[in-house]
Amino acid sequence: LAHGFEYKGERVSLVGPQGIFKPKICDYPLSITTVMHGPYADRIDSSGLLSYRYRGEDPNHRDNVGLREAWRRRLPVIYFFAIEKGRYVATYPVIIVGDDPAALTFKAQVDTLSKETPLGVGEYSDDAGSSRRLYLTAQVKVRLHQRAFRERVLRAYREQCAFCRLKHDELLDAAHIIADKEPEGEPVISNGVALCKLHHAAFDSHFIGIRPDCVLQVRHDILVEPDGPMHLYGLKAMHNQHLILPHALAHHPSMARLEQRWQLFLASK
Ligand SMILES: [Zn+2]
Repeated sequence: LAHGFEYKGERVSLVGPQGIFKPKICDYPLSITTVMHGPYADRIDSSGLLSYRYRGEDPNHRDNVGLREAWRRRLPVIYFFAIEKGRYVATYPVIIVGDDPAALTFKAQVDTLSKETPLGVGEYSDDAGSSRRLYLTAQVKVRLHQRAFRERVLRAYREQCAFCRLKHDELLDAAHIIADKEPEGEPVISNGVALCKLHHAAFDSHFIGIRPDCVLQVRHDILVEPDGPMHLYGLKAMHNQHLILPHALAHHPSMARLEQRWQLFLASK
């Protein structure tokens, strides 16, 4: 993601140091930012709208006034979701659709159709069905959290497959140790492991398991079958290899999750 652009010979940033950002050359705010796990984490209300906290407590702070003006004029803004320092996932357009001074929040409609449909402000009006809006906004939230999980896991594993060291971003995934539909399947680094596409599929299909001491085990029936080079180098060669781990201990896979997943592997034989 480019963090800025050139305009009349001047470098204009898209993201400001504060949540509501209005570059000097703009009359109205250009972007709003939420920090993941920040004090005012994004919240999607029951009608599917994002609650966006005011800058400070003063409704008349110039940033709040600016965003209110964007709301009145139905001007779209860019929504940045900060995954970690200096890294964002961007969503555009986001339309401010309400102002709640009592709760010190703006209401924003986050829509995923921006890529497929040219921006027509009318399409994002309050008339849009609230179930559709709820669905779209929830989808954006899921996408943001999935992207955040992938970025953080890949970074912790130094952008390589934890089984085979393959380092091509396009071929890497953040695999869940415990599936995200399970209660323990949270999108946290200690529930993730960076794997290449082949090893992600092999891990999910229980062809290869991670023993709780982080030694890889190829399932016996896979180990003994005679097959070609991909089987030999891609699967068989992983047997008894040690999982490549993140440098930070806090990012290592959680023992409880590895144990739980290992039981599933054993049961799959
Ligand atoms: Zn691999």
